[in-house]
Amino acid sequence: MSSLSAAGKIGDLVTVAVPEDERVWVPQAPNVWFRPLMFNTVQGGWCNLLRVTKSGVLSRHRHPGPVHGFVIKGSWRYLEHDWVAKAGMYVFEPPGETHTLVVDASTEEMITFFNISGAMIYVDDAGKVVAYEDVHTKIDMCRNHYANNGLGSTYVDQFIR
Ligand code: FE
Repeated sequence: MSSLSAAGKIGDLVTVAVPEDERVWVPQAPNVWFRPLMFNTVQGGWCNLLRVTKSGVLSRHRHPGPVHGFVIKGSWRYLEHDWVAKAGMYVFEPPGETHTLVVDASTEEMITFFNISGAMIYVDDAGKVVAYEDVHTKIDMCRNHYANNGLGSTYVDQFIR
């Protein structure tokens, strides 16, 4: 049970989302981490927290399905839009939307909940596909990270539905 409580799981259906154990955060890029909450291997999608610290960038990407976001802490923006998402705000990303998430130097840290359907399709400035992530690649990233940080390779299994 110690590994379960490290992830904040306090019952069969409920979890403390922002973990106390730093090891639960999986590094994704410089200054960017995600915390898995639910991997949906039946419909293809996942729920996670995204954490980005000062001056972090989540590479330009497009979604083939809808994405719902809720900002828990801090603020961030997309280079392609003129608004700033702040704590308490809800963000809807429709299918086909392309954007680059940045956290400005004035923000120490942002944490946002995202419910992502389908995939993250990473594109270059010309819109050409350069990489992708889906529920299976996210599971693999977690498994590799947890296998190497003491939580264990099976730690990710609790998030898979
Ligand atoms: Fe997005």
